[in-house]
Amino acid sequence: MFFTPLSLLSGLSPEWQLVVWSLVVTVLISVPFFVRHFSMQAPHEVTPFPFLDLPRELRDIVYENLIQNPSYPPCTPSPKALSRFGWLLPQRPAPSTSNWVMLSNHQVYEEYMDLLCKQAKFTLTVDQKNAKERDIWPIRSETLKQIRKCDLRLVTTSKMLGAEDPRTMPKDWPLRDKICERLRGVQKAEDLNLHVRAIGDPLWNPLWVWYHASQAFKDSAKPCFQRITFSLDTWSPGENLLARNKEGQWEWRCRENHFVATDAGQYLIREFCSALYAECQDCPRR
Ligand SMILES: [Zn+2]
Repeated sequence: MFFTPLSLLSGLSPEWQLVVWSLVVTVLISVPFFVRHFSMQAPHEVTPFPFLDLPRELRDIVYENLIQNPSYPPCTPSPKALSRFGWLLPQRPAPSTSNWVMLSNHQVYEEYMDLLCKQAKFTLTVDQKNAKERDIWPIRSETLKQIRKCDLRLVTTSKMLGAEDPRTMPKDWPLRDKICERLRGVQKAEDLNLHVRAIGDPLWNPLWVWYHASQAFKDSAKPCFQRITFSLDTWSPGENLLARNKEGQWEWRCRENHFVATDAGQYLIREFCSALYAECQDCPRR
């Protein structure tokens, strides 16, 4: 006698038929999920590219395409850049995907860092957050020694200058000494600039912040800055900047880099303001 599945099923009670049909439907629904699960677990045959077999010149070309100018501390995304529900999420700096290459092995790390220090511009920021930390920037001393281009951004409040009254600020400035000590190892830098950004304060005019910060760093031998520029956290009329000439002496220049005046060394605040806003003879009059 020959039994088909349907004839066997018809011999069962209605309750058992319901159970069997439920099982059949469940199995049919699960099939695509099982197929997907096992296909994802199937080993993918990937042959690694023999990157280290390439000549060093070609590897350097690859690194050059991955280099990004590093910032310390790392930049955090602005709240405006986040989605409308972004404020619900913890704000962390987005990892730079190009830097993962240096984690491949010791040799790739050394080669990548060598090129990074020679070609990239490092931006080191000091603000009221990291100014209090023992180590201002999470950067190795060995890396600092190799840097060629570097911008020091000093985002300064009056509190960071360490004086209640701008007129009585002492010559010793612990934060300046701390920064100089950390940058003492930057010996190979050919392009080293200081940017002083004054944060508004109801008691201090930003001119005092620019004045004290620039006077404090101007004569520093290590690090030896090439340019000192000034800005506000709001609109400003356009200040002149300090730059070294070919003889290594400081001079005042306009934003278009025209010579404006020779720097007279240590200034009184009135003389500093006069040089800061001295009119350029080469730029067209507004
Ligand atoms: Zn000019």
